[in-house]
Amino acid sequence: QTIGDCFDAMAVRQPDALALVSRHEGVRMSYGELQAGAHRLASALLRSGLLPGDRIGIWSHNNSAWLLMQLATAKAGLVLVNINPAYRTAELEYALNKVGCRAIVAMARFKTSDYLGMLRELDGKLPQLERVYWIDRTGEGAEEPGMTRFSALLASGEEADPRVAEVQRSLKNTDPINIQFTSGTTGFPKGATLTHRNILNNGFFIGECMKLSPSDRLCIPVPLYHCFGMVLGNLACLTHGSAIVYPNDGFDPLTVLEAVQAERCTGLHGVPTMFIAELDHPRFAEFDLSSLRTGIMAGSPCPIEVMKRVVEQMHLSQITIAYGMTETSPVSCQSSTDTPLAKRVSTVGQVQPHLEVKIVDPSSGALVPRGQSGELCTRGYSVMHGYWGDAEKTREAIDAQGWMHTGDLATMDEEGYVNIVGRIKDMVIRGGENIYPREIEEFLYRHPQVQDVQVVGLPDSRYGEELCAWIIPKPGQVLTEASVREFCKGRIAHYKVPRYIRFVAAFPMTVTGKIQKFRIRELMSEELS
Ligand code: ATP
Ligand code: MG
Repeated sequence: QTIGDCFDAMAVRQPDALALVSRHEGVRMSYGELQAGAHRLASALLRSGLLPGDRIGIWSHNNSAWLLMQLATAKAGLVLVNINPAYRTAELEYALNKVGCRAIVAMARFKTSDYLGMLRELDGKLPQLERVYWIDRTGEGAEEPGMTRFSALLASGEEADPRVAEVQRSLKNTDPINIQFTSGTTGFPKGATLTHRNILNNGFFIGECMKLSPSDRLCIPVPLYHCFGMVLGNLACLTHGSAIVYPNDGFDPLTVLEAVQAERCTGLHGVPTMFIAELDHPRFAEFDLSSLRTGIMAGSPCPIEVMKRVVEQMHLSQITIAYGMTETSPVSCQSSTDTPLAKRVSTVGQVQPHLEVKIVDPSSGALVPRGQSGELCTRGYSVMHGYWGDAEKTREAIDAQGWMHTGDLATMDEEGYVNIVGRIKDMVIRGGENIYPREIEEFLYRHPQVQDVQVVGLPDSRYGEELCAWIIPKPGQVLTEASVREFCKGRIAHYKVPRYIRFVAAFPMTVTGKIQKFRIRELMSEELS
């Protein structure tokens, strides 16, 4: 089955069930309406001259056009290229040219950013780009010369176009359908090529772990251009007949709380920083979140304290943690709603059905004993086709036996529960001692005046590396280096006490809400040089 086939079957089974609520657009669509729209858009894209296998970009925050594009491209066999709305001209030029997009669907503008203006600036530098379609949200009336409105594109398609059904029948589930760029947490984003089989199966098994059904409504504040929104959100819902709720087009904790209450959402997704922002919102207590049951926390390590608050204060007793990476569609480990709470708050669960996970010594490749840390490797249907146009990087990541080497350090206990210890690149070796920044972060997080903390290693001529902590104090609290040092004294080994401690208002982040430790290291080495 392809994504289009699977979605059509669900739409035929429950045409009147709610499929989408996009709150900032005031859009509500049933499965039948969404299917009709997707078919019409697929028809329009094929009529425009695009052929199966062609790449088309989407450069937008969350909205109904995004979801329609995901389904229409799957039906028409086009490869959807997710482009981060935070990209600016240099990154856009790189991404579009790297994969050879023939067309792009873009927001016209967002807040102060002029997306069409940026595309115009690149005039002449995008040799393969033939067409630009712009998403015309209400209030943006201006005609854009040489560029077509998304609504006009949609109108040029036909709901019963036989060509769409013909193309859809000819597709194989091993065909590439999506190119997603990694977050860029450790450096330059890489374009992972994914097939129907990769992401459709993953979306289905994620929904299984959450026990989704047609009575669920999932609030998705995470971005769609990232696999979190597109697979853990959209595909998990659509394979289970559940409703998708987009609270807003950019992340904002208040609109999430409002959406959950107003739509009686049963599920809520987020990266740890989003849940923290929602819990710490001054109006948090005003909202009735009692409809919530499940959701996914993923993307980066979550402090156990935060998991506990999410379970207790947000009613998310069946929240699950997922671990994965763009290159593996993305999820490879996930706790289920049945996992005992103690395991759910402290691990990323067990390997997903039909996948394999092993933990090896990164230098020798040999399996490590249970409980010891090593590089997590994963194999199965979820492993990407490859990095687009980069056979060498693909070979470095996926070995001859099909194992994806994740670059993450993890441990596995006797029952198969996996714990992510950190990234190989982030591990600090100080005076011969291996130090996992995550451990120090968990520890410092318990200081009563610490809101958030990041620990990195910095080059040091004496010890090889030294630890550095960046701390965000709780609002209105004064925190001193002396108080942090006092807190560490006698509680953690002296070599784990950070040599450098800095207080900051924010961390350098990717727009997926991940903290870029490499930027902290760069900023510190500028300061110290
Ligand atoms: P890049 O590869 O460009 O540096 P990235 O690895 O952050 O960026 P993604 O594919 O979006 O890009 O993220 C995957 C990574 O996120 C994993 O390799 C892992 O390090 C981290 N991660 C994902 N889920 C979890 C989790 N539940 N707990 C801890 N870390 C996680
Ligand atoms: Mg990565």
